[in-house]
Order: sequence, then C-alpha cells, then structure tokens
Amino acid sequence: MDKCSFCGRTKKEVNLLIAGVSGHICDSCIEQAHQIVIEEFNQKDDFDINEIKLSKPKEIKSYLDQFVIGQEESKKVLSVAVYNHYKRLAQKPDNEDVEIEKSNIILVGETGTGKTLLARTISKMLHVPFTIVDATVLTEAGYVGEDIETILTRLLQVADYDVNAAERGIVFIDEIDKIARKSDNPSITRDVSGEGVQQGLLKLLEGSIVNVPPQGGRKHPDQKMIPVNTKNILFIAGGAFDGIEEKIGHRLNTKMVGYSVSDQTDQIDRKNLLQYIAPQDLKSFGLIPEIIGRLPVLTYLNRLDRESLKRILTEPKNSLMKQYKKLFSMDNIELTYEEKVLDFIVDKAIEFKLGARGLRSICEAIMIDAMFEMPSENEKTFKITTAYAKKKISKTNMKKLRVA
Ligand code: ADP
Repeated sequence: MDKCSFCGRTKKEVNLLIAGVSGHICDSCIEQAHQIVIEEFNQKDDFDINEIKLSKPKEIKSYLDQFVIGQEESKKVLSVAVYNHYKRLAQKPDNEDVEIEKSNIILVGETGTGKTLLARTISKMLHVPFTIVDATVLTEAGYVGEDIETILTRLLQVADYDVNAAERGIVFIDEIDKIARKSDNPSITRDVSGEGVQQGLLKLLEGSIVNVPPQGGRKHPDQKMIPVNTKNILFIAGGAFDGIEEKIGHRLNTKMVGYSVSDQTDQIDRKNLLQYIAPQDLKSFGLIPEIIGRLPVLTYLNRLDRESLKRILTEPKNSLMKQYKKLFSMDNIELTYEEKVLDFIVDKAIEFKLGARGLRSICEAIMIDAMFEMPSENEKTFKITTAYAKKKISKTNMKKLRVA
C-alpha cells in the first residue's frame, strides 16, 4: 500500500499523497518541510543593512525626479526622511549616543497626485520589500474585516517570508484619512472603523513585536504565527483628507485674530492652503494625537496642473508615451504624434476630472484601434494627429473611461 516515505501514513490517512521516483510524500510533510526551508533561509541572515546603498538625499531626490513630476517639496522631505531612516538602521546597536527616532511619514494630497508612486519609487530604489495596504479594509480585532496584523502578512509575502528583509521594508498605508474619527469629540461612542483601528495601528507604527498570521485572513488557533519586529519598518501613510484645507484656513484665520491687521494675511497663498498643513490640522480632521506623533514627517502633494499632466505623459522614465512607443516598436511600427495631441489628452483628463490616472484610459481609447489592427498590417508608421485623436475620443463614452 502507498504511504508517505517521511511519516509513514497511508494514503487514507492524508489528504494528498504525491509520488516521487522511489517514494511518496504527503501534504502535511510538504508543509512541514516548507516551514523548515523558510526558517533555514531566515537564519542565514541574508539581508544586510549595509547592502542597502545609502544614497545621499540629493541622490534620492534625483532618482525620484526620473519618475515623479513636480511635487518638489514632498520629494525633498521624503528623501531626507528615508535617508535618516536608513542611517538610523545602520547605527550600531551598542552605540550609546543619541538614539535616532523613527521617521514614519504622512503624505497629504488629492488622489492621483503621486503619493503611491513616490512610496513605490523609493522602495524600488532601495530594493527593499514594499507593500501597499488600504486602511479602509482594516478593522479592530473582533470585527468583520482584516486584522491590523495582516498588513505585515503582505510584507512577509513580498519578502518571500524572509523576516529579516521584511523587518526593513516599507509599508504604504493608503487612505489613512478614512479611519479618522468621525467626530472631533473623543467622548463619542466608539466607532469601529475609526478610532479603534487607529489605536491598533499605533502598536505597529511605534515599533513592537507583532505576531503575524503567515497566510493572512482571520487568525485561527492552529495557525503558527510569525513574530515580526516593526521597529525598523518604514511606514508611509497617505491620504486625500478631503476638506482639510478648510481646517487649515480656519486655523490660519484664528491665528490672525488679535494681531493688528498685518501683512501676514496677504502673505498667505489662499489658493494653495495645503502647503501650510501642520499636525494640528490632522487632529482637527480626526486623527488621534498618538497616531500623529508616530508619523512625525508631514508633507503635502500639489494638485497637478495642466503643465504637470502634460509632462507626466512624456517625461518620466517609463512615461505613458514612451510605453506606447515601445509597444508599437516591438511590431516594428514607429509611433509619432503631434505635440497638440498631448494638449488634447490633458484637456480631456481635466474636462472629465480624471486627473493623472485618467491619462492612461484616454490614451488607450485613442490607440486601441491601431493596436488591434496594425500588427496584422504592413504599415510601419503610425502618426497620431489631433484630428485622429478627436475622432477616436468622440466614439468613446467618456463616462465609461475607467480611472485606473
Ligand atoms: P495617489 O497615491 O496620490 O492617489 P498615484 O501615485 O497612485 O496617486 O498616481 C496614480 C498614477 O498617476 C500613477 O501611477 C502615475 O502614473 C500618475 N501620476 C500621478 N502623479 C504623478 C506625478 N507627480 N508624476 C508622474 N506620474 C504621476
């Protein structure tokens, strides 16, 4: 009778028995062996902080410049924060000098302005594990939704369960504004999705050892937890914080009261209040002070204007236009376009409030027919004129364009 060559159990006693050249292995032995392999690899300590080439802030910023258009202020702040973070990791543990505190970051800016792109680009540069989590799916333990710890499950997964590497990774927490307290009044009855989750996140942000369910999902009793120390994980939180400008404006106005009518009022650029964002505005929005304290680096992203949108189409290293040129060139077709086509695409993105994310769907709508037909034809050049672009867009139901 066939049985597992490792544990001796028969086919009937196991879920699955796999045959090899001269023996068999059952599913539970495979799982155990897999765990051993993971543990072995982790012990090798193959992630060395010194292997991260610690670029200077200016170098980090010029790397970001290749992918992210504009957003000068946040690129600068982020470069310094990341530099300091990894300097902190490089610090010898026995060093009794000043202990450098962790510099988790919070990025405030409308959706589609490049928050995720910034975080992703940084992690690409550093070659560290990176994951994005959506704060809206998180709930306090015991409620429907995902436990806070699953944030780390994802990081472990992208690090191929190399705990050492994961412990130096970057986590981007998107939509942090959505877990703001619904009311500024702390005595209000608990709201499940808000304050409780913020409390849960605290533990992660401040650095502690968290037991992580390796497969995510709900914790269940016989799942073996993996302890992960979050002390050196860099958390970057991002959110649109709709309406926060009002709170900033309000704060700036209140500050003015009592002063003689001074020039100060004139100096405030009312069109872009986000640049004055301060921690207390996040508090008025509904983040608890402890969370704000754990995200000490605060910066903002500007709304993308016409000029920036146009640059996004062509300038980044992997800009949309460069990608389409590449796609066509693989069929030996040379793609060219009139400069005005770019203006047209940007106009449409603005008209339909699609922002930077919409640029792609507009380009797709313009090029889909050519991408479908040309590979089977002999034509070796494809020039997009404004008339051509207009014709293709007029056939598209703009309301249907998906914002990727
Ligand atoms: P957010 O996280 O702020 O909502 P994303 O970073 O996801 O926005 O941006 C969506 C897409 O729009 C990006 O993948 C990128 O293609 C483009 N994009 C947005 N902002 C910029 C920017 N400043 N520079 C270059 N591309 C950008």
